[in-house]
Amino acid sequence: MMLRLGLYLLVIAILSACSEGDHERARPSNTIATRIDRRHDEQLFKTETPTWQEPKHYPWDHEGAGRHAVITKEYFRCRGSDLNPERVVEQSNGNPLYLHDCGGAERHSLPLRDGTEFVYPILIDLLNHLQVTLDRRVLITVGHRCPQHQKYVDHSPNNPNAKHMIGAQVAFYVEGMEQQPKDIVDAIIDYYKTEPKYEAKTDYTEFKRYDKDTDVRTQPWFNKEIFVKLYQADEGRDSDNRHPYPYISIQVRYDFDSGQPVRYNWNEAHRNFHRW
Ligand SMILES: [Zn+2]
Repeated sequence: MMLRLGLYLLVIAILSACSEGDHERARPSNTIATRIDRRHDEQLFKTETPTWQEPKHYPWDHEGAGRHAVITKEYFRCRGSDLNPERVVEQSNGNPLYLHDCGGAERHSLPLRDGTEFVYPILIDLLNHLQVTLDRRVLITVGHRCPQHQKYVDHSPNNPNAKHMIGAQVAFYVEGMEQQPKDIVDAIIDYYKTEPKYEAKTDYTEFKRYDKDTDVRTQPWFNKEIFVKLYQADEGRDSDNRHPYPYISIQVRYDFDSGQPVRYNWNEAHRNFHRW
């Protein structure tokens, strides 16, 4: 008992000795505290008054692009993913069909033209035009779909989205204008009225309504170059368009640059891209 008490006192003695020592070192007895004042205009380094400077231009900026990042073909890459689960659908003969998604942009390229990845430029130009004139961000939900991802999302044999496979179709909505899709269609039509290369070309500047049956209730719009569909909030839903908003789909019908009609073609869809 005595031994334990002795040890206890010894520990206290050591601890208090240490703390006293620290205290001594931290505040020597001969320290004099002095107040340091400076006048308001007294400074060690003179700093210039800031002046406005033009912001730097980055490679993804270009003249007239507005405040949103310029849309390029990169935004059109396939949205497939290895992480998507296997889908089982029943075929008309009653047998199950097992569908697996593609690996997305990590596993394959965009469609090719002359060995280079290619998306019809009218789609890129139109979406950039919308971003600038509406001053809102365009959100692409579907650009290119490789055949495997297309089948995974929609296995119907005659689906209206086949041109996604050849880089000639895009689905999107505009942030902040989710409930005004008709205004976006008007802005698309406006593009043809303001773009000098279409001047005096009425088959481009005048849009007609498509009155035959399609998968949408709103009659689509079309000119010589594009076909525009408006999907309401309860139409055209698939795993790429899971958002609750109406959206716009643009298909290219005719290529202004090459002067050729743009049609879905099995070879172009299935063989014309790199896999890795
Ligand atoms: Zn894919």
